[in-house]
Amino acid sequence: MLDNLLLMIPGPIEISPPVKKAFGVSPPSHVDPEVIDAFGRSIEKMRQAWRAAEDSQPFIIPGSGTLAMDMAVANLVAPGDRVLVVNTGYFSDRITEMLRRRGANIHTVGHGPGFAPSADEVVAALDTEGPFKVLCATHVDTSTGVRIKPEPLARAASERGVLSIFDGVCATIGERFEMAAWGADVYLTGSQKAIGLPPGLALLVASRRALEARDALAAPPPMSTDWHTWLPVMQAYEERRPSYFATPPTNLILALDVALDEILDEERGMMPIWDSHHKVATAMRRAWKALELELVPVRESTAANTLSAIRYPEGIGPELLGRIKARG
Ligand SMILES: *Cc1c(COP(=O)(O)O)cnc(C)c1O
Repeated sequence: MLDNLLLMIPGPIEISPPVKKAFGVSPPSHVDPEVIDAFGRSIEKMRQAWRAAEDSQPFIIPGSGTLAMDMAVANLVAPGDRVLVVNTGYFSDRITEMLRRRGANIHTVGHGPGFAPSADEVVAALDTEGPFKVLCATHVDTSTGVRIKPEPLARAASERGVLSIFDGVCATIGERFEMAAWGADVYLTGSQKAIGLPPGLALLVASRRALEARDALAAPPPMSTDWHTWLPVMQAYEERRPSYFATPPTNLILALDVALDEILDEERGMMPIWDSHHKVATAMRRAWKALELELVPVRESTAANTLSAIRYPEGIGPELLGRIKARG
Protein backbone atom coordinates (compact mmCIF):
# COMPACT_ATOMS: atom_id res chain seq x y z
CA MET A 1 0.00 0.00 0.00
CA LEU A 2 1.74 3.13 -1.27
CA ASP A 3 -0.45 5.33 0.95
CA ASN A 4 1.10 3.80 4.07
CA LEU A 5 4.62 4.84 3.13
CA LEU A 6 6.07 8.06 4.50
CA LEU A 7 8.04 9.47 1.58
CA MET A 8 11.12 11.35 2.78
CA ILE A 9 12.99 12.28 -0.38
CA PRO A 10 13.48 15.83 -1.73
CA GLY A 11 10.54 15.30 -4.07
CA PRO A 12 7.91 14.06 -4.61
CA ILE A 13 7.15 14.88 -0.98
CA GLU A 14 4.13 14.41 1.25
CA ILE A 15 1.34 16.75 0.16
CA SER A 16 -1.20 18.38 2.49
CA PRO A 17 -4.83 17.20 2.59
CA PRO A 18 -6.15 20.51 1.09
CA VAL A 19 -3.64 20.24 -1.80
CA LYS A 20 -4.65 16.61 -2.33
CA LYS A 21 -8.31 17.60 -2.36
CA ALA A 22 -7.77 20.39 -4.91
CA PHE A 23 -5.73 18.00 -7.08
CA GLY A 24 -8.26 15.16 -6.83
CA VAL A 25 -11.20 16.72 -8.71
CA SER A 26 -12.31 15.58 -12.18
CA PRO A 27 -9.98 17.30 -14.67
CA PRO A 28 -11.42 20.74 -15.46
CA SER A 29 -10.98 22.54 -18.78
CA HIS A 30 -8.05 24.91 -19.10
CA VAL A 31 -10.54 27.73 -19.85
CA ASP A 32 -12.81 26.96 -16.88
CA PRO A 33 -13.28 30.20 -14.86
CA GLU A 34 -12.02 28.45 -11.72
CA VAL A 35 -8.84 27.35 -13.47
CA ILE A 36 -8.32 30.83 -14.92
CA ASP A 37 -8.66 32.35 -11.42
CA ALA A 38 -6.34 29.79 -9.84
CA PHE A 39 -3.79 30.35 -12.63
CA GLY A 40 -3.90 34.14 -12.31
CA ARG A 41 -3.64 34.06 -8.51
CA SER A 42 -0.75 31.56 -8.69
CA ILE A 43 1.21 33.85 -10.99
CA GLU A 44 0.76 36.73 -8.53
CA LYS A 45 1.66 34.56 -5.54
CA MET A 46 4.77 33.16 -7.25
CA ARG A 47 6.14 36.71 -7.44
CA GLN A 48 5.67 36.95 -3.65
CA ALA A 49 7.11 33.51 -2.89
CA TRP A 50 10.14 34.12 -5.13
CA ARG A 51 10.49 37.63 -3.60
CA ALA A 52 10.59 38.86 -7.18
CA ALA A 53 10.10 42.35 -8.64
CA GLU A 54 6.73 43.56 -9.92
CA ASP A 55 8.08 43.64 -13.48
CA SER A 56 9.39 40.05 -13.29
CA GLN A 57 7.53 37.29 -15.14
CA PRO A 58 6.48 34.00 -13.54
CA PHE A 59 6.05 31.02 -15.90
CA ILE A 60 3.88 28.01 -15.00
CA ILE A 61 4.64 25.37 -17.63
CA PRO A 62 3.64 21.70 -18.01
CA GLY A 63 6.82 19.76 -17.29
CA SER A 64 9.58 18.90 -14.84
CA GLY A 65 12.29 20.86 -13.08
CA THR A 66 14.63 19.72 -15.84
CA LEU A 67 12.40 21.42 -18.42
CA ALA A 68 12.65 24.66 -16.42
CA MET A 69 16.46 24.34 -16.57
CA ASP A 70 16.37 23.74 -20.34
CA MET A 71 14.04 26.72 -20.72
CA ALA A 72 16.39 29.04 -18.81
CA VAL A 73 19.35 27.94 -20.94
CA ALA A 74 17.43 28.15 -24.24
CA ASN A 75 16.19 31.70 -23.59
CA LEU A 76 19.38 33.24 -22.20
CA VAL A 77 22.22 31.49 -23.99
CA ALA A 78 23.10 31.59 -27.67
CA PRO A 79 25.79 29.48 -29.36
CA GLY A 80 29.24 30.85 -28.53
CA ASP A 81 28.11 32.74 -25.39
CA ARG A 82 30.49 32.52 -22.44
CA VAL A 83 28.96 30.97 -19.31
CA LEU A 84 30.41 30.48 -15.80
CA VAL A 85 29.10 27.36 -14.00
CA VAL A 86 29.42 26.89 -10.25
CA ASN A 87 29.51 23.10 -9.96
CA THR A 88 28.39 21.40 -6.73
CA GLY A 89 27.20 18.03 -8.09
CA TYR A 90 24.98 16.03 -10.41
CA PHE A 91 22.51 18.78 -11.32
CA SER A 92 25.30 21.27 -12.00
CA ASP A 93 26.65 18.62 -14.40
CA ARG A 94 23.20 18.45 -16.00
CA ILE A 95 22.99 22.18 -16.73
CA THR A 96 26.59 22.02 -18.02
CA GLU A 97 25.46 19.39 -20.54
CA MET A 98 22.49 21.58 -21.56
CA LEU A 99 24.87 24.51 -22.08
CA ARG A 100 27.23 22.31 -24.09
CA ARG A 101 24.38 21.25 -26.40
CA ARG A 102 23.42 24.90 -26.82
CA GLY A 103 26.98 25.58 -28.01
CA ALA A 104 28.02 27.71 -25.04
CA ASN A 105 31.62 28.38 -24.14
CA ILE A 106 31.75 27.02 -20.56
CA HIS A 107 34.08 27.79 -17.66
CA THR A 108 33.58 25.82 -14.42
CA VAL A 109 34.40 26.48 -10.75
CA GLY A 110 34.03 23.48 -8.42
CA HIS A 111 35.92 21.07 -6.17
CA GLY A 112 34.12 17.73 -6.13
CA PRO A 113 31.51 16.11 -3.87
CA GLY A 114 30.82 17.91 -0.59
CA PHE A 115 32.55 21.18 -1.43
CA ALA A 116 31.05 24.53 -2.41
CA PRO A 117 33.27 27.14 -4.07
CA SER A 118 33.49 30.30 -1.96
CA ALA A 119 31.84 33.50 -3.16
CA ASP A 120 35.30 35.12 -3.42
CA GLU A 121 36.44 32.38 -5.74
CA VAL A 122 33.40 32.76 -7.98
CA VAL A 123 33.75 36.54 -8.08
CA ALA A 124 37.45 36.16 -8.93
CA ALA A 125 36.51 33.86 -11.83
CA LEU A 126 33.94 36.43 -13.02
CA ASP A 127 36.67 39.07 -13.07
CA THR A 128 39.69 37.14 -14.35
CA GLU A 129 38.09 34.61 -16.72
CA GLY A 130 35.35 36.93 -18.03
CA PRO A 131 33.57 38.62 -19.57
CA PHE A 132 30.66 36.17 -19.19
CA LYS A 133 27.10 36.55 -20.40
CA VAL A 134 25.59 34.14 -17.85
CA LEU A 135 26.39 32.65 -14.42
CA CYS A 136 24.74 29.30 -13.50
CA ALA A 137 24.59 27.82 -10.01
CA THR A 138 22.60 25.11 -8.22
CA HIS A 139 21.13 26.53 -5.00
CA VAL A 140 21.07 23.07 -3.38
CA ASP A 141 22.59 20.18 -5.28
CA THR A 142 20.52 17.16 -4.34
CA SER A 143 23.34 14.70 -5.05
CA THR A 144 25.63 16.18 -2.39
CA GLY A 145 23.27 18.10 -0.10
CA VAL A 146 25.52 21.13 -0.64
CA ARG A 147 23.93 24.57 -0.54
CA ILE A 148 25.72 27.52 -2.08
CA LYS A 149 25.22 31.14 -0.92
CA PRO A 150 23.29 32.69 -3.81
CA GLU A 151 23.24 36.28 -2.51
CA PRO A 152 26.87 37.31 -3.16
CA LEU A 153 26.88 35.47 -6.51
CA ALA A 154 23.67 37.11 -7.72
CA ARG A 155 24.85 40.53 -6.56
CA ALA A 156 28.30 40.16 -8.15
CA ALA A 157 26.78 38.97 -11.43
CA SER A 158 24.23 41.78 -11.50
CA GLU A 159 26.90 44.44 -10.76
CA ARG A 160 28.93 43.15 -13.71
CA GLY A 161 26.01 42.95 -16.14
CA VAL A 162 26.13 39.13 -16.07
CA LEU A 163 22.78 37.29 -16.08
CA SER A 164 22.33 34.73 -13.29
CA ILE A 165 20.39 31.45 -13.37
CA PHE A 166 19.80 29.59 -10.09
CA ASP A 167 18.51 26.01 -10.16
CA GLY A 168 16.27 26.04 -7.09
CA VAL A 169 14.57 22.69 -7.67
CA CYS A 170 15.85 21.30 -4.36
CA ALA A 171 15.70 24.67 -2.57
CA THR A 172 12.84 26.98 -3.61
CA ILE A 173 10.47 27.56 -0.66
CA GLY A 174 12.74 25.59 1.70
CA GLU A 175 15.73 27.94 1.52
CA ARG A 176 15.85 31.74 1.64
CA PHE A 177 16.00 33.39 -1.77
CA GLU A 178 15.39 37.08 -2.48
CA MET A 179 15.21 37.39 -6.22
CA ALA A 180 14.65 41.16 -6.50
CA ALA A 181 16.87 42.31 -3.63
CA TRP A 182 19.82 40.20 -4.77
CA GLY A 183 19.37 40.93 -8.48
CA ALA A 184 18.99 37.29 -9.63
CA ASP A 185 17.60 36.81 -13.15
CA VAL A 186 16.11 33.31 -13.18
CA TYR A 187 15.04 31.17 -10.21
CA LEU A 188 13.37 27.88 -11.12
CA THR A 189 11.87 24.76 -9.57
CA GLY A 190 9.53 21.79 -10.15
CA SER A 191 6.16 21.27 -8.43
CA GLN A 192 7.08 18.04 -6.62
CA LYS A 193 9.86 19.43 -4.43
CA ALA A 194 9.44 21.86 -1.50
CA ILE A 195 6.40 23.54 -3.12
CA GLY A 196 4.52 20.41 -2.06
CA LEU A 197 2.53 19.35 -5.14
CA PRO A 198 2.52 16.21 -7.24
CA PRO A 199 5.10 16.29 -10.10
CA GLY A 200 4.18 17.92 -13.42
CA LEU A 201 4.80 21.68 -13.36
CA ALA A 202 7.97 23.56 -14.28
CA LEU A 203 7.93 26.81 -12.29
CA LEU A 204 10.24 29.66 -13.20
CA VAL A 205 10.45 33.41 -12.61
CA ALA A 206 12.43 35.58 -15.04
CA SER A 207 13.60 39.14 -14.31
CA ARG A 208 12.96 41.99 -16.73
CA ARG A 209 16.65 41.81 -17.73
CA ALA A 210 16.29 38.10 -18.52
CA LEU A 211 13.22 38.77 -20.70
CA GLU A 212 15.16 41.44 -22.57
CA ALA A 213 18.02 38.99 -23.14
CA ARG A 214 15.51 36.63 -24.78
CA ASP A 215 14.21 39.50 -26.95
CA ALA A 216 17.78 40.05 -28.14
CA LEU A 217 18.38 36.44 -29.30
CA ALA A 218 19.05 36.20 -33.05
CA ALA A 219 17.36 32.79 -33.40
CA PRO A 220 14.33 31.66 -31.34
CA PRO A 221 14.52 28.63 -29.01
CA PRO A 222 12.31 25.57 -29.77
CA MET A 223 8.66 26.59 -29.58
CA SER A 224 7.72 24.81 -26.31
CA THR A 225 10.63 26.31 -24.38
CA ASP A 226 10.45 29.81 -25.87
CA TRP A 227 9.36 32.51 -23.40
CA HIS A 228 7.81 34.39 -26.33
CA THR A 229 5.41 31.46 -26.85
CA TRP A 230 4.34 31.45 -23.21
CA LEU A 231 4.33 35.17 -22.37
CA PRO A 232 0.92 35.92 -23.93
CA VAL A 233 -0.53 32.88 -22.13
CA MET A 234 0.83 33.99 -18.73
CA GLN A 235 -0.29 37.58 -19.31
CA ALA A 236 -3.79 36.47 -20.29
CA TYR A 237 -4.23 34.30 -17.20
CA GLU A 238 -2.92 37.08 -14.95
CA GLU A 239 -5.57 39.36 -16.47
CA ARG A 240 -8.10 36.55 -15.84
CA ARG A 241 -8.67 35.84 -19.53
CA PRO A 242 -8.67 32.34 -21.08
CA SER A 243 -5.68 31.42 -23.19
CA TYR A 244 -4.03 28.43 -24.84
CA PHE A 245 -0.73 27.28 -26.23
CA ALA A 246 -0.42 23.75 -24.82
CA THR A 247 -2.80 22.22 -22.28
CA PRO A 248 -1.67 22.80 -18.70
CA PRO A 249 -2.20 20.03 -16.10
CA THR A 250 -5.36 21.73 -14.83
CA ASN A 251 -5.60 19.73 -11.60
CA LEU A 252 -2.10 20.88 -10.71
CA ILE A 253 -3.03 24.51 -11.33
CA LEU A 254 -5.88 24.22 -8.79
CA ALA A 255 -3.47 22.55 -6.34
CA LEU A 256 -0.75 25.18 -6.91
CA ASP A 257 -3.15 27.94 -5.87
CA VAL A 258 -3.79 26.09 -2.59
CA ALA A 259 -0.12 25.19 -1.96
CA LEU A 260 1.03 28.79 -2.40
CA ASP A 261 -1.58 29.95 0.14
CA GLU A 262 -0.16 27.44 2.61
CA ILE A 263 3.38 28.67 1.92
CA LEU A 264 2.80 32.43 2.13
CA ASP A 265 2.15 33.98 5.53
CA GLU A 266 -0.17 36.98 5.26
CA GLU A 267 1.92 39.15 7.57
CA ARG A 268 5.46 37.84 7.38
CA GLY A 269 5.56 36.52 3.82
CA MET A 270 8.21 33.82 3.40
CA MET A 271 10.07 34.18 6.71
CA PRO A 272 7.97 31.66 8.71
CA ILE A 273 8.38 28.83 6.19
CA TRP A 274 12.11 29.46 5.73
CA ASP A 275 12.51 29.53 9.55
CA SER A 276 10.62 26.28 10.01
CA HIS A 277 12.74 24.48 7.40
CA HIS A 278 15.89 25.78 9.09
CA LYS A 279 14.70 24.68 12.53
CA VAL A 280 13.76 21.16 11.47
CA ALA A 281 16.97 20.75 9.46
CA THR A 282 19.08 21.87 12.41
CA ALA A 283 17.35 19.27 14.60
CA MET A 284 17.99 16.57 11.97
CA ARG A 285 21.67 17.52 11.73
CA ARG A 286 22.02 17.26 15.53
CA ALA A 287 20.45 13.82 15.35
CA TRP A 288 22.89 12.64 12.64
CA LYS A 289 25.76 13.90 14.79
CA ALA A 290 24.47 12.08 17.88
CA LEU A 291 24.26 8.89 15.78
CA GLU A 292 27.87 9.51 14.64
CA LEU A 293 26.81 9.77 11.01
CA GLU A 294 28.84 11.91 8.65
CA LEU A 295 27.34 14.45 6.24
CA VAL A 296 28.60 14.70 2.65
CA PRO A 297 28.88 18.55 2.85
CA VAL A 298 32.29 19.12 4.42
CA ARG A 299 31.12 22.26 6.24
CA GLU A 300 27.89 22.49 8.20
CA SER A 301 27.37 26.04 6.86
CA THR A 302 26.98 24.57 3.36
CA ALA A 303 24.61 21.74 4.43
CA ALA A 304 21.14 22.20 2.92
CA ASN A 305 17.96 22.61 4.95
CA THR A 306 15.92 20.69 2.39
CA LEU A 307 17.66 17.32 2.59
CA SER A 308 20.49 15.57 4.38
CA ALA A 309 23.14 13.74 2.36
CA ILE A 310 24.74 11.26 4.75
CA ARG A 311 27.60 8.83 4.15
CA TYR A 312 26.96 5.13 4.80
CA PRO A 313 28.64 4.06 8.02
CA GLU A 314 31.31 1.29 7.89
CA GLY A 315 29.86 -2.02 6.76
CA ILE A 316 26.46 -0.68 5.64
CA GLY A 317 25.48 -0.08 2.00
CA PRO A 318 22.52 0.56 -0.28
CA GLU A 319 20.68 -2.48 1.16
CA LEU A 320 19.75 -0.08 3.97
CA LEU A 321 17.15 1.57 1.70
CA GLY A 322 15.16 -1.65 1.34
CA ARG A 323 15.17 -2.09 5.10
CA ILE A 324 13.94 1.47 5.66
CA LYS A 325 11.15 0.93 3.14
CA ALA A 326 10.12 -2.33 4.79
CA ARG A 327 9.47 -0.31 7.92
CA GLY A 328 7.30 2.18 6.06
C1 LIG B 1 15.05 17.25 -8.75
C2 LIG B 1 16.04 18.23 -9.27
C3 LIG B 1 16.10 18.61 -10.62
C4 LIG B 1 15.29 17.93 -11.67
O1 LIG B 1 13.93 18.07 -11.48
P1 LIG B 1 12.95 17.05 -12.27
O2 LIG B 1 11.59 17.54 -11.91
O3 LIG B 1 13.28 15.69 -11.79
O4 LIG B 1 13.24 17.20 -13.72
C5 LIG B 1 16.98 19.60 -10.99
N1 LIG B 1 17.79 20.19 -10.12
C6 LIG B 1 17.79 19.85 -8.81
C7 LIG B 1 18.71 20.56 -7.88
C8 LIG B 1 16.92 18.87 -8.34
O5 LIG B 1 16.92 18.51 -7.05
